[in-house]
Amino acid sequence: MNKLLCVLTCGLGLFSMTMTAQEIEKKYTKEVDRLAKNKKVEEAFGYIKSQKDATTQDLITLTEILAPPFMETERGKVFAQMLEEAGVDSIWTDKVGNVIGLRKGVSGASGYIGVDAHLDVVFPEGTDVTVKKVGDTLKAPGIGDDTRGLAMLISMLKAMNKAEIKTEKGLLIVGTVGEEGLGDLRGMKYMFNESGLDIDAWIAIDGGSMGRISNAGLGSKRYKLMVKGPGGHSWGFWLGQSAPRPGQGHR
Ligand SMILES: [Zn+2]
Repeated sequence: MNKLLCVLTCGLGLFSMTMTAQEIEKKYTKEVDRLAKNKKVEEAFGYIKSQKDATTQDLITLTEILAPPFMETERGKVFAQMLEEAGVDSIWTDKVGNVIGLRKGVSGASGYIGVDAHLDVVFPEGTDVTVKKVGDTLKAPGIGDDTRGLAMLISMLKAMNKAEIKTEKGLLIVGTVGEEGLGDLRGMKYMFNESGLDIDAWIAIDGGSMGRISNAGLGSKRYKLMVKGPGGHSWGFWLGQSAPRPGQGHR
């Protein structure tokens, strides 16, 4: 079977091929329609809706444990605990810090399907990550990218267990480390290059857009540049933007 990499992306330097709705081949939309009518899938989606408050609480709990790249350990421990409570067959943390839950498949076939969100956030040590409610919106640094993805993994796992959805191959549910900045994708690189796991397909949950799916083509080019200047986040303080005021920036 061809390996399939299906990824929702975020961050800079990522190039992907995206498809608009009208370009999606019929065989895929048919399959999605068929799955959507499956009783167990319907039950799972119903359960996800009914668990909204619990998922929101998981999101707040995880967001309030700040996890810059290379400092994901504490958040990883709490994520592991959530995996355990949701129900997996085994949990381990690998050499680089990825937290992995295995939900066994029923066929006994080799190969795993991976689903991940990244544990780290772009914000540095010392950032106030207290979640604040503004109107109907929860706000805090890192709450979207990618803590929301982590909460989604837990919600998905609970729903699959509740609806007794079985998969042929084993499912790896993973909180990866080092996706942002100098983390240089070290968690994902380890999974594919060194973990020894036979990964058959992968889905990454990331990014802030609800309607975007990137598939089949993803690359990341990394350059090391030496720049002299006041510093700041590359999104907020790029060339031409004003430099950060004291107390801001350096993200
Ligand atoms: Zn991200």
